[in-house]
Amino acid sequence: MSDSAFSKLSLAEPLARAVAEMGYESMTPIQEQAIPVVLAGRDVMGAAQTGTGKTAAFSLPLLQRLLKHENASTSPARHPVRALVLLPTRELADQVAQQVKLYAKHTNLRSAVVFGGMDMKPQTAELKRGVEVLVATPGRLLDHIEAKNAVLNQVEYVVLDEADRMLDIGFLPDLQRILSYLPKQRTTLLFSATFSPEIKRLASSYLQDPVTIEVSRPNTTASTVEQHFYSVPDDDKRRAVRQIVRQRGITQAFVFVNSKLGCARLARSLEREGLKTTALHGDKSQDERLKALDAFKKGEVDLLVATDVAARGLDIKDVPAVFNFDVPFNAEDYVHRIGRTGRAGASGLAVTLVSPSDTRLMADLEKLLKRKIEIEAIEWDDERPRGRINDGRRAWREEDERRDERREPRQDFRRDARPPSAPKDPFFEQPYEPPAREEAPAWEANKPASTRVSANIKPKRKVAALFKSE
Ligand code: AMP
Repeated sequence: MSDSAFSKLSLAEPLARAVAEMGYESMTPIQEQAIPVVLAGRDVMGAAQTGTGKTAAFSLPLLQRLLKHENASTSPARHPVRALVLLPTRELADQVAQQVKLYAKHTNLRSAVVFGGMDMKPQTAELKRGVEVLVATPGRLLDHIEAKNAVLNQVEYVVLDEADRMLDIGFLPDLQRILSYLPKQRTTLLFSATFSPEIKRLASSYLQDPVTIEVSRPNTTASTVEQHFYSVPDDDKRRAVRQIVRQRGITQAFVFVNSKLGCARLARSLEREGLKTTALHGDKSQDERLKALDAFKKGEVDLLVATDVAARGLDIKDVPAVFNFDVPFNAEDYVHRIGRTGRAGASGLAVTLVSPSDTRLMADLEKLLKRKIEIEAIEWDDERPRGRINDGRRAWREEDERRDERREPRQDFRRDARPPSAPKDPFFEQPYEPPAREEAPAWEANKPASTRVSANIKPKRKVAALFKSE
């Protein structure tokens, strides 16, 4: 038996069966470290990002410990909330809840998710029927507590997931209120991508003698990502994105911005300029956000403009390119942002547009990455010297010509786009297909399709191969 085999854990049969059905062969590092600690009833302070398998790392041992309460009674009183999992965004809550459901599917333990932007009524009905595991965003949970739909006096386990994000969003007062409703005698698990002083303070107030587990270093970037920093004044940034997308033949990309307002505005401008663009930010309704994501996953849009908060932890892992339209306020977000590309050995491109006012943010980034960052000048297309083309430019020009020949439908990326008079080649209508990967980590392979689509997110007709979560 390998050291990281799930069978080493002696999980109860219904849980072991669920894990086997998920196709997981071995534990991920966070699972290997956290599961035994949670099974032993200790508090945990875990530094792990989404994508590391952290949901199973806390869900499986929690479910195992809750099995002693399992019962088939239909009485709500027999199904009080025993475990509470708090997350900063609706999408994350939804993702985690789906996973919990899958792990618990052969047990009589019930789970539910509540988050804002959706009708309270169905959530209320589910809560009133009784659930052992409640996944929630803080604001909506407080609404349900106030409406007396959720009673938390029998909670034994609390998970504060993506805790740094919750603090960034300003959820600290909500968290403090929620935690005040819970029994003092409980197990608390806190997961965060970083251990900032605020997180440490939160942990020291609410965790008891926690075991610290760290599986990923937040200040490293994958070597497979080609990183460029271009000096571009704010007014020219959109033009820079258009040019790079066109020159590099980029099929899909994330474009990160620092503010919600900037996010909506940029998406609208890029869309007007002919790039198929959608935006993801906290001011959109739940329905709009799910639609935006869905369209991107299906390959119907090329650019997804997002804030860090909105994009954090989403199950969209491998885009060909990431643009940092704004240099991130938190240097660590740079690592999260560009971690969306170049995964598992595939090559990726990360372009950061640096304006003259970004000096301090760039200094922070250099400190985090522990290297000097070279900022390049951008060579604008229309400043091409006539009659002399260097190799790089020739390659781009040749690529342009090849596209002209095959009448590639993405010609709307061009400023001088011709009307699409020629018949379209269906091949180029396909969503992006990532290159075959030889180096996918074993634990990332064989994920069942069932983990990809939420019950709350309408089933997709066709999901781009890019987003198979491998
Ligand atoms: P998470 O970090 O919890 O969001 O998990 C990221 C993805 O990894 C999810 O799609 C999980 O289904 C998957 N996953 C979690 N644990 C394992 C494992 N041991 N082997 C393979 N895939 C896993």
